Amino acid sequence: MKPINVIIFGRQGSGKGTQSLLITKEFGPVHISTGDMLRAAVEKGTEFGLQAKAIMDRGELVSDEVISGIVAERLSQSDVIQNGCLLDGVPRTLGQAESIMKVLEKLDFSLDLVLNLEVPIDEVTSRMLSRGRADDTEEAIARRLGLYEQETAPLFEFFSEKGVFEVVDGLGSETEVFDRLSAVITRVLSDKK
Ligand code: ADP
Repeated sequence: MKPINVIIFGRQGSGKGTQSLLITKEFGPVHISTGDMLRAAVEKGTEFGLQAKAIMDRGELVSDEVISGIVAERLSQSDVIQNGCLLDGVPRTLGQAESIMKVLEKLDFSLDLVLNLEVPIDEVTSRMLSRGRADDTEEAIARRLGLYEQETAPLFEFFSEKGVFEVVDGLGSETEVFDRLSAVITRVLSDKK
């Protein structure tokens, strides 16, 4: 299979984590989730992990510099070079988007597709409240959704201008949503030289 490089956007609670795993399984790109990477650092209890935990518990964003560094390092590893990447939860700010575009260019990766898994705010809020994760307090959820509209939604314009942006309806069963995503990815793959 041709390696494909994809970014997936979606509000917290949109199901993009689940769908990302399905995409990786079916189409092969390496799943790169900054949320997972940060939680792994927290788990290890390193100094960096402790700092990240405090920020995550407040529902705030880890600095662009730190995020850009960990993503650049991950992107240059051989499994990604071989299989492509699926970026999940990153970029979240214009600064991160610009730095990731530079890294992709330097590695001679094409950005093939940017997906936006669209689920309305009301629906994601009730989904998150019912999953009961440690950082899913009502306050932190509201803060994260607010930040998403403020910092991340403007990136849709940035990627639309690059001609790779696709919105996919995220309502419905896991399978229904995955079928929609698969149809878009298959089309993009068949156009890729
Ligand atoms: P969610 O989608 O529920 O916010 P994530 O796993 O994507 O979950 O992220 C959890 C937390 O990790 C975020 O609230 C934020 O504090 C931090 N984080 C993850 N990715 C980034 C990023 N790209 N930039 C800044 N902070 C991030």
